[in-house]
Amino acid sequence: MKKIKPKNNFLLLTLLTCQIGGFPILAKADAPKCQLLIAKQFFDGVNFPQPNMAVLVVGNKVKQIGSAEALGNQCKTKINLGDATILPGFIESHAHVTFQSVRKDNVLEHGITTVQDTGGPLLPVEGGQGKLRLLSTGPIIQAVGGYPLNIFTPDDTAGGLDKVGITVTSSRNEAEKVVQQLADGGATAIKIALEPGGETGAPWMMPHGDHPIPDAPWPLLSPEIVQAVVNKAHALGKRVIAHVGEQVGFDLAVASGVDELAHMPCAAISDASLQNAVKAGITFVTTLDTLASCGPTGLHYNAFRLGLMGANFIYGSEVAHDNVPWGINGEEMHMMLHLTHGADAINFDDVVNVFRSVTSKAGQRLGVNPLLGSLVPGAPADIIAVRGNPFERFKILEYPDLVMSGGKIVVNKFEK
Ligand SMILES: [Zn+2]
Repeated sequence: MKKIKPKNNFLLLTLLTCQIGGFPILAKADAPKCQLLIAKQFFDGVNFPQPNMAVLVVGNKVKQIGSAEALGNQCKTKINLGDATILPGFIESHAHVTFQSVRKDNVLEHGITTVQDTGGPLLPVEGGQGKLRLLSTGPIIQAVGGYPLNIFTPDDTAGGLDKVGITVTSSRNEAEKVVQQLADGGATAIKIALEPGGETGAPWMMPHGDHPIPDAPWPLLSPEIVQAVVNKAHALGKRVIAHVGEQVGFDLAVASGVDELAHMPCAAISDASLQNAVKAGITFVTTLDTLASCGPTGLHYNAFRLGLMGANFIYGSEVAHDNVPWGINGEEMHMMLHLTHGADAINFDDVVNVFRSVTSKAGQRLGVNPLLGSLVPGAPADIIAVRGNPFERFKILEYPDLVMSGGKIVVNKFEK
């Protein structure tokens, strides 16, 4: 016993030392590193304002939320941000980071801690601990000769799991097989294109490279194939996201039971169809800023009507498009607020709703961790902070002063 005792004392000493001084090797094995963030304003993904709150991070997770006084003694590593706002890391639900070779660290440094790539090479979920958390739907299921391959890689008529699109022809078995391959490869949702083209102002109607835009209408999948894709995806527990821009594709999507539309449609949709979609509980990913050229009689009209009907909206900005920031997009939030708030004058809850749609609501939909996008005990420690109050000025979110991904700080301008 006497020989063992000094070793125990040494262990105790090193544990204490590591908690105080943070020796990395010992901290990794025995004492999770803690960090306490304190700021004047706090948003947990649902409620704002919450004044003078602190977030205790242990390892890669949020351990506790409470007043600065209550949590002050729980961790010696304190980061007091002062007149700033702590928020969950933002979630981009419609991106093409991999397909367009956008640098992931740039996206993360601009406040987006999670993206869902919706069209592009199929990859399993990656990142989340100091790196951008990247979810992927893989290639978009499409008709032969149709969108998106006809615009992006017209020489490639079949696509594949490493491309922006993958074609299915006429067999339900083939459609089911492709959905199974996507799910097996880690797709977090299944995306399908129902796009006959022709919408004025849509990005897909602008020339890409040297290729002319093919004449519309473009080939569409048959209703039977679309239904087979939706049924198979649902049987595998996957959401179906449809790329839709106009009336024909919209009605096909609603009739087939898709869960989500990847865009606010570019061309005007009839009120009856919009109502059918709302009744069916379809979620609309906004992408209003990148589609702004679709204009007031199409895009804006649809958003406004859906707002009046109480539709469900999720923020999406199309990170990787050249006409939007590759990070948080304040203008997208601004357009969401003004176009989708509903019948009453804009009130503060409408503002908070926009923030929910890019944090907690977006995280719950992705299906990888229900706490993603929320700052509650057990949630991933994906956190951003900005000086001042972003609920009064969305733009400051595009230049966050602090970004933490899975407990690892990747931006901290408060130290300077
Ligand atoms: Zn897109």
